[in-house]
Amino acid sequence: MILYIIAVIVVLFVIYSWVPNLLVRVMHLAAVRKVPGRSSVVLTFDDGPDPKYTPRLLDALQAAGIQATFFVIAEKAQQNPDIIERMQIEGHDIQIHGYRHFMVPFLLPGKTVQQVAGASQVLKQRFAINTTWYRPTWGLCNAVTLLSPRTRSHRLITWSIMVGDWKRTPSETLLRRIADKLHPGAVIVLHDSDETFGSDESAPESVIALIPSLATLVREHGYEFVPLIKAAGLGDPIGAAK
Ligand SMILES: [Zn+2]
Repeated sequence: MILYIIAVIVVLFVIYSWVPNLLVRVMHLAAVRKVPGRSSVVLTFDDGPDPKYTPRLLDALQAAGIQATFFVIAEKAQQNPDIIERMQIEGHDIQIHGYRHFMVPFLLPGKTVQQVAGASQVLKQRFAINTTWYRPTWGLCNAVTLLSPRTRSHRLITWSIMVGDWKRTPSETLLRRIADKLHPGAVIVLHDSDETFGSDESAPESVIALIPSLATLVREHGYEFVPLIKAAGLGDPIGAAK
């Protein structure tokens, strides 16, 4: 009897936590990885806003004339409202990475919903931002993420180019890795915080230093940087100032 109960629990856990990630991360179903349009490249940043790095990243993006998409942690947005407001003023797209940086496959349904609905509420009530996209933390979800009406309010997105920038890496190496993978409709993910578990301290310094050469690389290949919400054909960046 005990073995039977354990077997049922294991099967339920696999269905709840593993199958959704098999669909999203391995089979590339149920989530967007790249955008339409042969000339668009979407540059995205996860894990911020971070007072140590994000303002200088915004300086670099402004100097390079790039409008990016920030997948933010709602709790950090509440702690750093001035950075979110600057993103809005400078026309960046602001979307959801989660309420906190949790490992979603292990979250119970209520906490899973809060990752999207709670974060969405914070960004709407505090900043008047209507988010429509959700990139789960570590790109990992569970069955509730895929099935609940309260999480399906947001489209799931992962990425098509990831280059290990959470480890301290020379910006020249990051640039070469991106160049090797660059393609039409690419969704590039980088990180503007080193507080996430597994990140190297000061790793975002290389990300900030990368921006000028990344801008040149992408444009030399005939692509333009487009915020996600524009690349997906849904009009102006939601996070942009009115
Ligand atoms: Zn993250």
